[in-house]
Amino acid sequence: MKNEDVKNGVVFSAGEKNDAFAQYFVGQSYLNNLVADPKINVGVGNVTFEPSCRNNWHIHHNGYQILLVTGGEGWYQEKGKPAQLLKPGDVVVTHDGIKHWHGATKNSWFEHLAITTGTPEWLEPVTDEIYNNLEA
Ligand code: MN
Repeated sequence: MKNEDVKNGVVFSAGEKNDAFAQYFVGQSYLNNLVADPKINVGVGNVTFEPSCRNNWHIHHNGYQILLVTGGEGWYQEKGKPAQLLKPGDVVVTHDGIKHWHGATKNSWFEHLAITTGTPEWLEPVTDEIYNNLEA
């Protein structure tokens, strides 16, 4: 597997096993909540994905999400569009209402900061048919 060092966190620590959202992921992820302040309406988390781990299709309603890629190699895909290969330094903006998923490539750990507002709606898992046909 590539980028094994990412599992320990790159800039911020990887945090704990992401049990709170495990039902919305395929594979193991880790979450370090960096900003979870009830007085502001944006959250910041460091999310780390083991190889092949990805979240389900989902939508950020009444808000948005910004992903800042900090480590490894991953994918971002919006419904109806090709998946984008992500590497450290990449930035992704997901607008309100856009169905999408993000996660690691098959053979690499992956980490991004997620800056999120609004309410997520979690949908179906990314099928193996889609995921296994991605070529990094
Ligand atoms: Mn998202």
